[in-house]
Amino acid sequence: MKILKGIPGAPGVVFGTVLYFEKKTGGKIELDIDAAVAKCLEKVRRMYKKALSDLGEDKAKIFSAYEMLLEDEMLIGPIKKSAQGGTAPDKAVKEVTESMASILMTKKSEYLRQRADDIRNIGNMLIETLMSADDNFTFPKDNEKYIVAARELTPVDTMLFDRSRLLGFATCEGGAASHTVILAKSIGIPAVVGISELNSTAQGKKAYLDGYTGEFVTEPDSTAAAVYDKKVRSEEELIKTLETIKKSDAYTKDGERIGVYINIGKPSDLKGSECERFDGVGLFRSEFLYSAAKDRPTVSEQYEAYKTVIDAVYPNTVTIRTIDVGGDKQIDYFNMPKEENPFLGNRGIRLCLSNKDIFSQQLKAILMAGAGKKVKVMIPMVTCLDEIRETRELIRSVREELTGENIPVCEDLMLGIMIETPASAIMADVFAKHCDFFSIGTNDLVQYIMAADRGNAGVENIYQPFHPAVLTMIDRVIKAGAKAGIEVSVCGDLAANTDFTEVLLGMGLKKFSVPLPMLSRIKKKISDTDLSSARKLSEKVLTGEDENEVKNIIAGGEKL
Ligand code: PEP
Ligand code: MG
Repeated sequence: MKILKGIPGAPGVVFGTVLYFEKKTGGKIELDIDAAVAKCLEKVRRMYKKALSDLGEDKAKIFSAYEMLLEDEMLIGPIKKSAQGGTAPDKAVKEVTESMASILMTKKSEYLRQRADDIRNIGNMLIETLMSADDNFTFPKDNEKYIVAARELTPVDTMLFDRSRLLGFATCEGGAASHTVILAKSIGIPAVVGISELNSTAQGKKAYLDGYTGEFVTEPDSTAAAVYDKKVRSEEELIKTLETIKKSDAYTKDGERIGVYINIGKPSDLKGSECERFDGVGLFRSEFLYSAAKDRPTVSEQYEAYKTVIDAVYPNTVTIRTIDVGGDKQIDYFNMPKEENPFLGNRGIRLCLSNKDIFSQQLKAILMAGAGKKVKVMIPMVTCLDEIRETRELIRSVREELTGENIPVCEDLMLGIMIETPASAIMADVFAKHCDFFSIGTNDLVQYIMAADRGNAGVENIYQPFHPAVLTMIDRVIKAGAKAGIEVSVCGDLAANTDFTEVLLGMGLKKFSVPLPMLSRIKKKISDTDLSSARKLSEKVLTGEDENEVKNIIAGGEKL
């Protein structure tokens, strides 16, 4: 038995045979650059069509980007020149793509930095094609489903698999936001990534893959098998229950109706939502409009995106979070000075208020898109009352301008704030008097309370949502909102973490906003919770003196 540990990517527990995916090459160059480019072009065009019909336009777009790169003389020209000058073709591809990718990595724009990965993927695809790698992957001729394991899976690789034969993904490389994880979530299978010790010796072995804990267990002994069989069976039961829960509203065991909302980043994230019942969009991260394009989006492009979402979920409402860039998200056309410590610098509402022309355009698009409907506007990274006052004033003046031009605008607009800084959480009772709702952004709130960067693996152990300081703060905000009679939701990752559902309900939370794939799981957890026991649990949790004690109490244990 071998127990390997990776990063939990997509939820689920499965048992099956491992198929280790590896492209075979003869190790020698068999094609020239032109022939390899032509073959790759033919392949990405095929992949585009397949992705378009299987996964939709948004996921297919990556392949049209690859097509453009393969046709780009600025990329292919230097490769050919280097090969003509005597460099081995594979080496020429590697050198040129690496050097272009590393230049892109130094760019401020997130859009350009993301292109670096695309260029590396194109480089690898060209090298494999030069060596005539065998990419005619087929599953064995049985009707079994397999756990596909690999060193790494590129978007092209993932398109080779027949999805009906996949049990789960296990990869050596990749993080929680990798392409493998995105695909696994969209087809509803578990994924564990970043399993550093995973290699081809796993081929053909029987294994358990646990997408909740990140465990990948090959050739389990009888004791482990008994434990994992139980997990697999309860997962199968859970999936059956989730199917029945999809179409219903969320109620606690004792009958309290709880609001469940979804988080999206772009209109196409609504795909699949028609099969589920939910109460609206609790967080629309609008910055995709700004970071996904090279140029500043026009008012009408923004209007289209907001209106698509508002209309799609009507009569439910959409909460549009205004641009949250800064921190690690850099955008060239924003006036963003180089900062020593950008997470504590000009981020979110601070940056919007110092770029009022861009901010007013966004507000204009939202006001127009919400005409005749109700819309919620939410501002990120709030620390001072003036930020709320200034935003309200800006909305008023944009509205006045539009009505002056006889343009229909939203008459029912609520202005809320994200509670994601210690200042806003501490001042929640005062801030509640100045806005219409709160949404707790636990991803940032944890990082700022714990003074631990949410993206830095070196301080992962300190970035602790179980820490009493975090939970005390969340409790305080929920109670302040209830006292002031305004809505409070949680839209950060904690809302989608079933370990916290009961505690949050016990604190009085009535709204959860989670990614679509987690919706039914959260509804199920809500339906299993009795509010009076939840209140007792949260009271007990709030007596915890450190994160271990809190974890223990949440897991059903006592104070340590
Ligand atoms: C948060 O901080 O919890 C949040 C929801 O916002 P984001 O993750 O986009 O910063
Ligand atoms: Mg945030």
